[in-house]
Amino acid sequence: MFHKKHIYFSLIFLLIISLILAGVIWHSQNQKLKIIFFNVGQGDAIMISQGQNQILIDGGPSGQKEMEKLGKYIPFWDRKIEIVIATHPDQDHIGGLIDVMKNYKIGKVIDNSAESDSQVYKNYLEIIENKNIERLKGKEGMNIKIKDANLEIIYPGLILDPPAGGPKDTNSDSIVAKLIYGQNSFLFTGDFPLEKESALLIDKFDLISKVLKVSHHGSKNATSQEFLSKVSPFDAIISVGKNNSYGHPAGELLERLRAKKINILRTDEKGDIEYICKNLFSCQMAN
Ligand SMILES: [Zn+2]
Repeated sequence: MFHKKHIYFSLIFLLIISLILAGVIWHSQNQKLKIIFFNVGQGDAIMISQGQNQILIDGGPSGQKEMEKLGKYIPFWDRKIEIVIATHPDQDHIGGLIDVMKNYKIGKVIDNSAESDSQVYKNYLEIIENKNIERLKGKEGMNIKIKDANLEIIYPGLILDPPAGGPKDTNSDSIVAKLIYGQNSFLFTGDFPLEKESALLIDKFDLISKVLKVSHHGSKNATSQEFLSKVSPFDAIISVGKNNSYGHPAGELLERLRAKKINILRTDEKGDIEYICKNLFSCQMAN
C-alpha cells in the first residue's frame, strides 16, 4: 500500500517539475528576439517579436493565412500587436492586415500614406477609422524600439520624389526599414523598385545587413548589383508563392544573388523562415 502511494506521489512530483521546467524553457525562448518571414503565398508578411512585443511588417494577401500564422507564433493570451507597418497599399501586402486589425488590439499603424483606389485599400482605411487606430506616416529617420532592438525607417525620404512609374505606381514609395540588434541586421524593402534604388545608394545610408528581404518577391526590376554590393547580405529571403503567375523570382535576380554567393532562402520552398537571436552577436535560423 505504502509502496503504491509512494509511486503515485513521485509521479505527481515529476509532473509538476516537468511543467515548471517547460514553463521556464518556454519563457526564456519567448524572451529572445525573433524575426519570422511567414509563408503566405505570393505576398509579404514578416513578424519581429520579443516577449509580449510584436511588430508586423505587411500581412500577406489573405486574412485567413495571416491569422493562422499569428495564432501559431503569438501566445493566445497576447491579443495586442504593438506596431503594424504597411510598406505600401497593394493587396499582397495589406490584404491580410484587415483581419489582423479586426481581431487584435493594434498600438499604431505606420504606412507610406500612398493612396490606392482598390477595394482592399478602402477596407484598410475603414478598419483603421472604425477602430480608431493611431496612423502615422512612416518616413526617413523614424525609429521603432522593440526592447534592445531598433527598427529604423530609411525610406520614404523627408522630401518625396514623384513615383518612378507614374501616380499609380504603388511600389515606388515602399517603406524600407533596417532592424539592428547588436551585431545583427535585417533590411526590409517591401516592393521597392530598381529605378528608385539610387536614392538609397548614397553615403548617408548604412544599408549593410546580414539578412536582406529581397524586394518585390524576387522581381528582376529590383535589387540591382549595386544595391546588393551596398547591402552585402549573407542571406537573401524571397517571399514568394509557389508557381505564381508573375514568374517570381526572376532567373536574372537569382543569378545576381548567386554571383555574390548569397544564400537564397525562399518561402515557397522552406515555408516560414525564422531567425532566433541568441544574443547581440548571433541570430540563427531555426529551421
Ligand atoms: Zn508585393
